[in-house]
Amino acid sequence: MSAAAGAGAVPLAPRRAGEDASPPRAFAGHGKPTREQLLAAPLRWGRPSRLRAPLKLPKGKLANGLAALGVHDVGDLLEHLPRDRREARSVARLRPGEQATVAVEVRSISGRAVRTRGRRGMRGLVEATVFDDSGSMRATFFNQPWLVERYPPGTRLVLHGKADGHGRFRVSTHAPGVDIGVADAPQPGARGASVAHYPASEGVSSTRLLTLIREAGALLPDVHESLPARVRAAEGLPRRGQALAAIHFPDSEQASAKGLRRLAYEELLICQLAFLLRRGQRAELLRSRALRESPTLTEGWLRDALPFALTDDQRSAIARIGADLECATPMQRLLMGEVGSGKTVVALWAMLRAVEHGAQAALMAPTETLAEQHFATIQDLLGSETVRIALLTGSTPAKRRADALGKLAGGELSLIVGTHALIEPDVVFRELAVAVIDEQHRFGVRQRAALEHRAQGGLAAAAEGLLATEDAAAAQATIETAARPPVSGLQPHTLHMTATPIPRTLALARHGDLDRSVLRELPRGRRPIQTRIVAGEQGRAEAYGALRAQLDAGRQGYVVCPLVEEGGDAATAASVVGSCTASARAVGGEGALPGASEARAATVEFERLRKGELAGRKLALLHGQMRPREKQNAMARFACGDAEVLVATTVIEVGVDVPNATVMLVENAERFGISQLHQLRGRVGRGEHASLCLLLTPHPASARLRALAEHTDGFELAEIDLRLRKEGELIGTRQSGVGQFRFAVLPQDAELLERSRARAKQILAEDPTLSGPVHGLLADALTQMLGSEATAPLPA
Ligand code: ADP
Ligand code: MG
Repeated sequence: MSAAAGAGAVPLAPRRAGEDASPPRAFAGHGKPTREQLLAAPLRWGRPSRLRAPLKLPKGKLANGLAALGVHDVGDLLEHLPRDRREARSVARLRPGEQATVAVEVRSISGRAVRTRGRRGMRGLVEATVFDDSGSMRATFFNQPWLVERYPPGTRLVLHGKADGHGRFRVSTHAPGVDIGVADAPQPGARGASVAHYPASEGVSSTRLLTLIREAGALLPDVHESLPARVRAAEGLPRRGQALAAIHFPDSEQASAKGLRRLAYEELLICQLAFLLRRGQRAELLRSRALRESPTLTEGWLRDALPFALTDDQRSAIARIGADLECATPMQRLLMGEVGSGKTVVALWAMLRAVEHGAQAALMAPTETLAEQHFATIQDLLGSETVRIALLTGSTPAKRRADALGKLAGGELSLIVGTHALIEPDVVFRELAVAVIDEQHRFGVRQRAALEHRAQGGLAAAAEGLLATEDAAAAQATIETAARPPVSGLQPHTLHMTATPIPRTLALARHGDLDRSVLRELPRGRRPIQTRIVAGEQGRAEAYGALRAQLDAGRQGYVVCPLVEEGGDAATAASVVGSCTASARAVGGEGALPGASEARAATVEFERLRKGELAGRKLALLHGQMRPREKQNAMARFACGDAEVLVATTVIEVGVDVPNATVMLVENAERFGISQLHQLRGRVGRGEHASLCLLLTPHPASARLRALAEHTDGFELAEIDLRLRKEGELIGTRQSGVGQFRFAVLPQDAELLERSRARAKQILAEDPTLSGPVHGLLADALTQMLGSEATAPLPA
């Protein structure tokens, strides 16, 4: 290279081997920097460890408040993102009555006691004269006399509060701090500057967070970059540190949006990588029996025993499942289909495929009622086929249970239907080849895994308690043991079923490692369900009139109530809410929930109806707190027509199948989520008669209820549900650990999700184990975000 590299260019001193490294020259200069200059030079490399150092704060309210927000170190602080932005003002531009944030300095401060209006006694008032470049004002703080000591003249403060127009500023939150970088709009009337408003907790206000984050901002250069440069360039994403800076201290709205996009992309990418890695590992590490023999049993069953022809959707789902079962890689398929779309037939076909290979199959349902329903349905569907089948739930008598377990281990039982009782430690299969998990979202990921690892039995204890156990930690520990894959042996092929339609984006985000089949088409002959919103006493009277008219015509009906006992305790209410599908949690979106005591409890309602609107009719009561035998009785009475009306809680949400039931009244419908109501109303419209669903509510304008009245397609409703939910409460995949997003918001980030999915595929195509040096930090980020379990070959 010649020295003519251009005017002003400085040739680099070539470094010869064996020679001591001479100190670098000053950038673009000739002179050698002194030792002092070198030491003073800014560091050029990030030190991520500095972000993991715990925050140095005095123990107490502030530290507790931060811990409650999940903020333990500087890194957490920097990832604590603002919720929105507040107006920021200079003192001169404060407008009376407006909430605003100012950055000021204390000139003088004093306290005194003032008599309070209304209440007796005195309270402490602290007044400070504060100023900024534009002017000064008197700030007032109530009930905090200690501030006189804490904020002596000269202290810089960030204050949030309201100006009264007479030179006074009533402070609501305050924090000592650095400048918040307020620059007023140059022209009056133009949009003012804004400051970030952070999610706060008791002990730490947004204002305080603002000043803490300002201070922590000095460490932004230490934030490490997990995305390979190539990916960032291709997607046009800023560096992680830049993204965080742009979100906390934005120059413009676009910059902060771009920053958020970057964080969301990274998060989604990591999630998709985890799904795909898991799939890959499953294919590589786990083996199943390939079910390739000719369909001796299934063919005859489809032809002779089934009383109806399959729908096209059922046919194609069966074809896909059949192909899956022929592989030695375990099937992991999600079968989605509305209530009544005929999933059981498809599942049974898969199970019979196992049976005709001399292997076993199991179906696990989340409740006893459901398991019993499935058991009955399957026996019906089997017709004259002789398949040895048993039911196993928590209330199976000991003797029957022992008998079933013996036959299961010996291989004399081919098919077993049950609840989580199937994953207890002494349940041992001779060869479990197909496992079906119904309403899979009701089970924890570990429980599903436990059933899968039952293939050869002899495993450690699995936990009990579906949604909650008293000793959660112990339960978790036992599940962990049971969830470990067997040391040797085969995995069953697994079919997950759900009646909750999951929009594609959500399915990708939650079940990105499962294959999917959908049954959209309802079996022929189904009559659409008419849904109406009913409000007011008049409406209520008409609703009961409609119900009685159906009963008079020989039909049956449901009355659904949200709680078990009137004014039931919080635990009861919680368990009812807990048994709802995820969307029920979105209820808060439309005003506060009515108190638990306002809910019409099934038991109370049952008594009331018996003496009131439905006097003289035959009623049955069904709720989760009843003994299994009582539940069975109630169900049986309703199924055979002995009871005309079933007054129930959401225990009837799934699985109950009484084609003669044509009308459903839902009390306090606003307390349920869209998907749950949709499932509930699927209990009617199952026979040849037109059906009616009446949603009783004091909130007839509810957008969710209107959606239900207007739409019958579950997938469409799922999309609407997603749109109606508030930001931040979306994607409650709390059950799976994977797909729990901090930054991404769906469906808004759906496009980003698709992009990240495609990118994850591309990355893994080049580096299937993510072990290449360019992906090291990405692999680290993956482990850190999701734990090492993320890549373990567990089912999702
Ligand atoms: P899901 O589990 O999806 O709610 P099921 O499998 O319980 O639905 O089926 C609901 C009802 O429809 C059952 O009574 C079943 O026998 C019936 N069924 C299923 N498939 C068909 C079909 N292709 N044609 C007519 N009826 C069907
Ligand atoms: Mg079903």
